[in-house]
This record gives sequence, structure tokens and C-alpha cells, in this order.
Amino acid sequence: MQITEPARRIDVIHETDVVVIGSGPGGLAAAIGAARAGVSVALVERFGCFGGNITAVGVEGFAWYRHEKTVDTEGVGREFEVRALADGATTPEPQSDSNALDAERFKLVADKMVLEAGITPMLHRAFAAPIVEDGAVRVIITESKAGREAILAKRVIDATGDADVAYRAGALTCKTPVEEMQAASVMFSMTGVDPRAFSKAVQEDPQTYKDWESGEWTVETTGKEDAMFSPFLRKPFKQAVEAGLIPAHLSTISGTWGAIYDSGDLTYLNLVHLPECDGTDPDSMTQNEIEGRKQAMLAVEALKRFQPGCESAKLRNFGMTIGIRDTRKIQAVYDMTGQDVREQGRFEDSIGIFPEFIDGYGILILPTTGRYFQVPYRTLLPKGIQNLLVAGRATGGDPVSHAATRNMMCCTVTGQGAGVAAALSVKHSCDLDRLDMALLQGELKRQGVRLH
Ligand SMILES: Cc1cc2nc3c(=O)[nH]c(=O)nc-3n(C[C@H](O)[C@H](O)[C@H](O)COP(=O)(O)OP(=O)(O)OC[C@H]3O[C@@H](n4cnc5c(N)ncnc54)[C@H](O)[C@@H]3O)c2cc1C
Repeated sequence: MQITEPARRIDVIHETDVVVIGSGPGGLAAAIGAARAGVSVALVERFGCFGGNITAVGVEGFAWYRHEKTVDTEGVGREFEVRALADGATTPEPQSDSNALDAERFKLVADKMVLEAGITPMLHRAFAAPIVEDGAVRVIITESKAGREAILAKRVIDATGDADVAYRAGALTCKTPVEEMQAASVMFSMTGVDPRAFSKAVQEDPQTYKDWESGEWTVETTGKEDAMFSPFLRKPFKQAVEAGLIPAHLSTISGTWGAIYDSGDLTYLNLVHLPECDGTDPDSMTQNEIEGRKQAMLAVEALKRFQPGCESAKLRNFGMTIGIRDTRKIQAVYDMTGQDVREQGRFEDSIGIFPEFIDGYGILILPTTGRYFQVPYRTLLPKGIQNLLVAGRATGGDPVSHAATRNMMCCTVTGQGAGVAAALSVKHSCDLDRLDMALLQGELKRQGVRLH
């Protein structure tokens, strides 16, 4: 059954040069990049904090791929890490030369960076619909406790992760078939862990990336990853299945822990994997939130019983929302390929680099050798719509390229590139698909981005 929603007049609450929808690594970088390029920017976010998966889901492993020889991204993403370190919002990451972000304290880091850049913060407003005229997005309509409101913007950046704006504006998008989607995860943290006993047990029985493989999962590596240490946990859950604590059909409970704090907090527990969860379908998400919390509590009980150091521990918190990895992507002017990320793609319209780090769809390749690829501007440009760029995990590309570009540091590359491009196209009154690449690259360089 369907009904017709009556048309209504709504207030225009804000006018801006650039509006960014969604404030994850992609959106935050986009808003800051645009503001630093000298235009007015509003950042719209449905939740009460900026940071996206970092703060809303609790994904703290911002650069867990980084090793001695890694040639890494430079730009606002690195600033996130450096600023978080300076503000006491990090802890050493156990498998890499990087710092894990503290998901809670990063909320404050993001607040500060948004306000310092002069961005208009607009929390607690969800994007509801665009108004498209003559093939160009002109207006963004939000929904909130205040009802429906309109924002007028000269350029729009879709950083929702799910290409919500592009999809509703009629741009070409595609979605991985649900049975092939990367699993969703209900993330959680524990407290009351004995950090010394936990670390001792990890050191005495170190796990490797090869250990990720099981009856359910195969992992393609280049071989060099196999013997490297991974903060991985499966044995306690296997014991829990044998003891009848976890039902045998949940032998998928296993995965990585992120950081152990002196305070007894064990965070970023990425142990619950929920296949066939469609992050654009609220019914699917409802069912998987409930199932995920149930499985997380089974994992907590198993750790208490079988993981040294966790005997007196308890659940500290779940992420504010289920973690979604894989939904809609745009069909872009250039869709990146597996070949681009595996074979050091090079592009004339590069907006930044990302190391050869591929994690997803059964592939794990770590950038231990200094190899890296460039990210082309055209991968942000949706086909079939004007005034709109997409940043973050919904940019154009095939599944293997997404296993690289979905990573948070790479989302900051597409974010900063989108933000600067949107700003320059307003300042120079030119369409996004006609932007002078020398101009874009010049401003990105000025902002500290490594392009080549
Ligand atoms: C469980 C899990 C573990 C992961 N582990 C890692 C890891 O260790 N390292 C790594 O680099 N990557 C990891 N990833 C991937 C990474 O977190 C994401 O790919 C990345 O955060 C995507 O960034 P984004 O900015 O595109 O979107 P997101 O981080 O998803 O941010 C999107 C933002 O947009 C907001 N939003 C969405 N829709 C609307 C709307 N309609 N209106 C207003 N706001 C909206 C959301 O609330 C959110 O704040 C993991 C992902 C998951 C789910």
C-alpha cells in the first residue's frame, strides 16, 4: 500500500557555499578542506557527535596498517591522529607504528577542529531529501526534532557512507548484493580487565594474520603478512563453543581487539560478524542490532571464562550504532579497480595517495614495502548529477578497490579532495566536472597533501 505525502512549505534555516552531509573521516576531512580553502561550510550530522564510525561505532584502528617502510597519506587525516595524540585521545596501537584513537575523546578533537576551521556545526539533523533542478542539487532538506528544514548550498558533498544524497538525487549508484556484502559488526568495549595478565597471555601465545583463516574465512595475502603479529582472538570462543557456552552455529565469533589501557579498558572489540545485513534497510539493521548485541554478550562471557586477564571484566559499552561496511557506491566518472590498488595506480588528477593496504572481501595486504597508489579526483564525481561530490566509502570503484579506499585514512583523502574541489568550484564559478586540476592540486599541496 502507498499514500501520498502532502506538499508543504518549510523554513530555509541556512545558506552556505558548501554543505557536507555526514561527518565520518570523509565528511570531517571534506568540511575542513573546504573551510581552509576559504568558503563558508556547514557540516550536517544525524547523530550528536562528529566522527562517523570512529565515534559512533567505536572504530579506533585509524592506521593499524602502518609499518616502518609504509609510505603514508599526508594531509588532514594525519592531522586527526597528531591532534588526537596531543589531546590525550590515543593509545599505542598493538600491531603497527600508529596510535589507536580513543573513540570517546575523539569526539572532543573533532569538535575543536570543526570550530577552529570556522565550520557551521549542525548536529542532530538527518539528511532527508534533495531538491534537484536542471540536473543539479540545489537544496538539502533535513529532518530533526524541529521537523523538516531546508539548507541552500552552492555545492553539496555526500559523505553519508551510503551515498544517500547521490541516490536520492537520481545519480547512478550500485549496491553490493546483500549476500555478498561485507559483514556488519556490533562493536563493543570492556572494562575491568587486568592489563598485565591480558598482555602476558597475548605475548605467550601470539596470534598472526594467518590465524584469521578458519572453516568460515579464507584470507588472501601476499605471504609476507602471514607470520606477522595480529591482535586476534579465536581460541577463547572455540573453547566456549566446546563448553556449550556459545552455540556451535556461532563459530564466527572471533576477531580483533584494538587497545588495552592501564585503566583496565579493552576497546574496539571487533568480534561479531553479521552477514547479509543491509545498511540501507532499517528492518535488516534492527534485526542485526539485536542479534549483534546478543552475540557480543556471549563473547563477553567467553572472554571472562577463557581469556586470562578478563575474569573480572564486564561490558563497558556498545557502539552507538551497528557498524556497516558495505552498501551503495556511486557510478563515478572513473570507477577505481582492483588493479589500481594492487598495482600502484597513477593518475593525472591525483588528489592524494594511500598505501597499498587492502582489507576486505577475503584479502589482506599490508603496506610493509613502501608501495602506494594515487586516488583520482574523478572517483568522487557522480555520473548524471551536478553540484555534487561524494567522499568516503561510497566513491566509485569495484569491490577490491573498495577494500582499500573504504579505510578511514583513505576516506580522509577523498574527503579533503572533495572539500577543496567544492570550495574552488564556488570561488571560480565553474562546474565540478570542469575544475582545473592544476588549481585543485595546488590548493591541496598548500594544505599539506602529498599528491604523488
Ligand atoms: C566494524 C567496523 C570495523 C572497521 N575497522 C576499520 C579499521 O580498523 N580501520 C579502518 O581504516 N577502517 C575500518 N572500517 C571501515 C571504516 O570505518 C569506514 O569505511 C569509514 O569510517 C567510512 O568513512 P565515511 O566517512 O565514508 O563514513 P562513516 O564513517 O560511516 O560516516 C558517515 C557519517 O554520516 C552520517 N550520516 C549517514 N547518513 C546520514 C544522513 N542521512 N544524514 C546525516 N548524517 C548521516 C553518519 O551518522 C556518520 O557520522 C571498519 C568499519 C566497520 C563497520
